[in-house]
Amino acid sequence: MPDYSVEQIRNVVLLSHSGAGKTTLAEAALLATGVINRRGKVSDGSTVSDYEPEEVKRQISINMSLLPCFWKGSKINLIDTPGYPDFVGEVKAGTRVAEGAVIVVCAASGVEVGTDQAWAYSREARLPSIILINKMDRENADFRKTLDDIRAKFGSQCIPVQVPLGSQSDFQGIVDLVTGKAYLGAEAKEAEVPSSIQEEVASLREMVVEAVAEADDDLMAKFVDGVEMTQEEILQALEAGTRNGQIVPVLAGSALQSMGVGLLLDILLSHLPSPREPLMAEGTEAPSPDPKGPLSALVFKTSADPYVGKLTYFRVYSGAISSNTQVWNASRNSVERVGQLYMLRGKNQEPVAAVTAGDIGAVSKLSVTGTGDTLAAKEGSEKFAPLVFPAPTMRMAALPKTKADLDKMGSVLSRIIEEDPTLRVHKEPDTGETILSGIGETHLEVAVEKMGRKFGVQMQLEAPRVPYKETITTPIKVDYRHKKQTGGHGQFAHVFLQMEPMPRGTGLEFANRVTGGAISRNYIPSVEKGVREAAQEGMLSHNPVIDLKATVYDGKEHPVDSSDICFKIAGALAFKEGLALGHSVLLEPIVKIWVTVPDDFTGDAIGDLNTKRARVLGMSPEEGVTVIEALVPHSEIMRYAMDLRAITQGRGTFTMEFSHHEEVPQNLAQKIIADRAAQKA
Ligand code: GDP
Ligand code: MG
Repeated sequence: MPDYSVEQIRNVVLLSHSGAGKTTLAEAALLATGVINRRGKVSDGSTVSDYEPEEVKRQISINMSLLPCFWKGSKINLIDTPGYPDFVGEVKAGTRVAEGAVIVVCAASGVEVGTDQAWAYSREARLPSIILINKMDRENADFRKTLDDIRAKFGSQCIPVQVPLGSQSDFQGIVDLVTGKAYLGAEAKEAEVPSSIQEEVASLREMVVEAVAEADDDLMAKFVDGVEMTQEEILQALEAGTRNGQIVPVLAGSALQSMGVGLLLDILLSHLPSPREPLMAEGTEAPSPDPKGPLSALVFKTSADPYVGKLTYFRVYSGAISSNTQVWNASRNSVERVGQLYMLRGKNQEPVAAVTAGDIGAVSKLSVTGTGDTLAAKEGSEKFAPLVFPAPTMRMAALPKTKADLDKMGSVLSRIIEEDPTLRVHKEPDTGETILSGIGETHLEVAVEKMGRKFGVQMQLEAPRVPYKETITTPIKVDYRHKKQTGGHGQFAHVFLQMEPMPRGTGLEFANRVTGGAISRNYIPSVEKGVREAAQEGMLSHNPVIDLKATVYDGKEHPVDSSDICFKIAGALAFKEGLALGHSVLLEPIVKIWVTVPDDFTGDAIGDLNTKRARVLGMSPEEGVTVIEALVPHSEIMRYAMDLRAITQGRGTFTMEFSHHEEVPQNLAQKIIADRAAQKA
């Protein structure tokens, strides 16, 4: 058993717009709690949280990191997440296993798109939250403006409980609005509040008093009667209000200068719930995190490592897992052997004997277990609700660089997909390409880089080929005579074909109208085979031929020289001639798309669709958003995930499905045909 109780654990996820300072804050917390004795920098990849080469290169977090630390006898499991929208899968997994959140906001930039998203995720997951207005030391830092911005967007439940002393280059410390004490510098030296800001302190304190009065009936009575509340009363009401989600305290600080970090850690302990008292949806019961109860644990992340193999991250909700035991995987109905358990801190793995209720641990080399699985004590145990991840919308073709890469590609792709539930892979039947889909371009690029670094498979991403088709536009009659007289046994077959265009969606039809035994019945299937094989490659772009009916209506055979293969050849070559004479055209796939955008962006989204040869079918307003339904050529929206993100600042979403084929406009067809010819050469 660890030397801390369930009540002393805090699982806290850090959320924000990319670059607001989560990773720097985590580093400051590790420094303040003595885990490290000098701090690393995001810029050179020396932080505990951002250590993977893909993160160092881009100077952003890509993977969630677990950063446990001890503060005043309690264990705080900080979960650092990426703010970059492509890696939302990690955010979803991290929020799922936390009881509370710290939303970091930049004091100079204010509420950004990623802040909105962080707020939405924390609401969705019912996480009591604290907002930190960070970077108070930066130029343009403005606490009051940022606070007003926060309250305007997220509501008046966001209550300042601190106010910074000075700002920008003059940022000196923090005033606690409840105790009325100032804390100076990184050491948080206690001091009196300077008279210069007493007025502001008094006015913000009024906000606190009103908020706690609203949250607590007894305090409301005092408020109405004009009776002064004690510090103790205010603090208790703030803590309770935060835990039940009614109040979101707003703090100030500078992660980079370690200012306000100790105060924040104190507030995590006093205001956020332990695993014993998570905020539950109405009518649902909190799990009982009894370390001695039956085991239930949720696997929330899997990472693939070429050396240690698979690493499985789990959160224990009740009971305990011990090293070198067996557990029951309730999701796969199978026993799972568990080896050495670890506590992870960034990339470091510290062996532990057991992981108990409320805590987070990891284990390597599990055989059947994947992300989202429930580990339990015995058969028949209940499963956790699945983890929910957004569906991938950005697709690119993954091409191996060499033959050796091609051979290894399949198995490596399945390993990287096991690690990332927002990645998918499939083979496109029409083009034969391996398509990797994910949340955005950077997401896919990082996946390819990881596969190269971890597993030595080099791949290249390209825009997927559009599955064009071909068809003819005029009915035509053709015949082909296949004849070879070489020494002994000759070859002979003569086939007459009628070819006619068919409506879109028909596909390729074949019919037989031969009468009087001009061609024996048993040769007809060979003719059809020849036709169908020839239809695999049209004469314009080497794409399949569809929406056409080929009828064999006459022919000739030779009693000795005819054979199946001869009729197949004649069928194929007759068909090819027909394509050349029947005025072939290029067809392109048209998809139906449903784009959901906040109302403000409807005009821009439609304008953009118009540049993409789209036909807007309709618009339906829903609460605050508009759903645009349109038909668009597939070739025009290969990068739509990125385009829509740019137009809507990341707020738009879309789904699409194949609709039908249409003829490519002449001017575009020329170029596609020329490109395809160049590619083939
Ligand atoms: P994240 O994306 O939220 O993890 O943000 P990072 O921790 O990676 O920080 C992004 C950048 O902001 C880095 O260059 C940090 O050095 C810088 N930064 C973070 N916190 C502060 C702060 O309190 N003050 C200043 N001036 N810069 C900060
Ligand atoms: Mg980060």
